[in-house]
Amino acid sequence: MGRDVGSDGFDVVIIGAGVVGTAIAAALSGPARSVLVIERSLKEGSGVTSRNSGVIHSGLYYPPGSIKAESCLRGQALLYEWCAREGVAHARTGKLIVARRPGDLGDLEALAKNATAAGATGIELIDGRAVAALEPSMPPCAGALLCPKTGIVDPHGLTRSLRAAAELRGAVFAMGTTITGLRATSSGVVVESGEDRLLASVVVNSAGLEADRLAAMVGVRDRPIYPCRGDYFRLSGARGRYRRLIYPVRRRGAAGLGVHLTLELDGGVRLGPDAHYVDDRDDFSPAPEKHSAFLRAAEELLGPVDPERLRYDGCGIRPKLRPPDELEERDFVILEEPAGCLHLLGIESPGLTAALALAERVASRLGASSLRGG
Ligand SMILES: Cc1cc2nc3c(=O)[nH]c(=O)nc-3n(C[C@H](O)[C@H](O)[C@H](O)COP(=O)(O)OP(=O)(O)OC[C@H]3O[C@@H](n4cnc5c(N)ncnc54)[C@H](O)[C@@H]3O)c2cc1C
Repeated sequence: MGRDVGSDGFDVVIIGAGVVGTAIAAALSGPARSVLVIERSLKEGSGVTSRNSGVIHSGLYYPPGSIKAESCLRGQALLYEWCAREGVAHARTGKLIVARRPGDLGDLEALAKNATAAGATGIELIDGRAVAALEPSMPPCAGALLCPKTGIVDPHGLTRSLRAAAELRGAVFAMGTTITGLRATSSGVVVESGEDRLLASVVVNSAGLEADRLAAMVGVRDRPIYPCRGDYFRLSGARGRYRRLIYPVRRRGAAGLGVHLTLELDGGVRLGPDAHYVDDRDDFSPAPEKHSAFLRAAEELLGPVDPERLRYDGCGIRPKLRPPDELEERDFVILEEPAGCLHLLGIESPGLTAALALAERVASRLGASSLRGG
């Protein structure tokens, strides 16, 4: 960053080189405008993007018409296209949401109805026999929702490819630079990092878990982030046993989808994430003491599991807008306030799936008019 505010600042400064910030950089960069991405870490995708399940979601759970529903569905289509074109590792595994008992079928049907109303396609309610045919290792169940379009992606490879595309179109990345101040003025937004400052016509705040703190620097204080941690356990010796991702039926009001089974691109099998609110946004210390809770959840979903095969495997922290005492999830927020500052707040799951669609929204929201040379 330059020492002083010069007349030749940037048209767009994007704060955060996570999957969302890099997708926005790829969408906005080009010969007509100068784009600078500022990231406090030395490597792109080191924030929330580095600690997730890598699932390409199908938009089943979100209220029809919400940004989450729309950007998940649009993002899924764009993501499969992008991965195929750019050679990003991914797989269309499909997913099953399993009703273990007949009493869970009502919730499953309600979920299918919501998903269809939200625009999800290709989903199908199947009975226990069909589940057994698809996944012979599963214990008997009452039925399931089959979602063939769900898949998995390498989040690091994806973020790297988005950064490369943005750089090819002229975007500049300032890594290892922490933004410490933002000031909206009549000539643009002053972006500060310690003593250094520069001027931007538009600032896009895509800072993940820190987005509320950056928004507060320009007076947006009413969207606090509530960090919600999710831990994972690895199930060893299960390679090749399951073909699809396997989820329980979500409990109403729960802060996550319930401990579920996800597959990795190399065939590894993980369980999680669970969900509990925490005070600290940076505390990723291991929580092996959750072993017995994970074993219970795993056995509820998959039948008997050898406790020795379940090992702690890291965690992530969700930037939630939903306070701990609320029953319903909150939507993603894309807020332009004050003029020249666009904030992306509460970009929890399905933010990885939705990244390209969120970038599309930001590009159309900013429009040619607010960008010099547009
Ligand atoms: C446990 C868990 C599981 C998930 N599973 C899935 C899933 O399976 N599928 C899915 O679609 N989504 C999933 N998500 C959600 C997904 O990971 C996120 O929505 C997505 O990664 C958010 O990307 P981002 O770019 O907004 O944030 P980040 O990746 O956090 O990027 C923000 C960047 O801003 C930088 N930054 C912050 N403050 C500053 C500052 N002051 N100056 C400079 N830089 C700064 C950070 O260093 C960071 O790199 C999951 C999330 C979690 C926590």
